[in-house]
Amino acid sequence: MRLLLVEDDEMIGSALRRGLQHAGHSVDWTRDASTAQAALAGAPYELVLLDLGLPGQDGLVFLAALRRAKNAVPVIISTARDALADRVRGLDLGADDYLVKPFDFDELAARIRAVVRRRAGHASGRLEHGVLALDPATHEVWLEDVAVTLSAKEFAILQTLMERPSAVISRTKLEERLYGWDEEIGSNAVEVHVHNLRRKLGDQRIVTVRGVGYRLGGER
Ligand code: CA
Repeated sequence: MRLLLVEDDEMIGSALRRGLQHAGHSVDWTRDASTAQAALAGAPYELVLLDLGLPGQDGLVFLAALRRAKNAVPVIISTARDALADRVRGLDLGADDYLVKPFDFDELAARIRAVVRRRAGHASGRLEHGVLALDPATHEVWLEDVAVTLSAKEFAILQTLMERPSAVISRTKLEERLYGWDEEIGSNAVEVHVHNLRRKLGDQRIVTVRGVGYRLGGER
């Protein structure tokens, strides 16, 4: 998924970005609140990881403004160990969860999955469509109960389609969800990933709606 990281500490920020990218996410990294605001206005993010101690506008002020503007993007705040009052205030202002620094990367990854799952309204994270099943938590995909190995981008496309099984998703939407600022997008990148998905799952699993985008195929 595409995440926005707001963190002014270079070391923490680059470690987080690396780890999140390694977990298959696309990450845009901003060091202050005003750049984060501009980023949110320009791209669809599925989650914001927000440090509270930022230069210029404070993370809590940023969060309050975000919710005041009715932006419901899931937010996980990160705070120092002794900053209990900030955590309480952050949750009250509309943060979905928090982490105390220094945090374990596996814990962050699990909390991201939990927040996104809660927001999507699924108690269990597993998505199913006909003979296809997908688990966002473990990054596993099954076709008729046989595990299929997908690349991170292939997985992200399939997950996007399976989250809204009857919707047609445009190529631009998929690109926005798949690629961060600093990633080069080939002109036919999405087509290539869809081609590979069809090769692995069967041609009929993903239908091209000409001039509009893609949707999942029928249930069998
Ligand atoms: Ca900081």
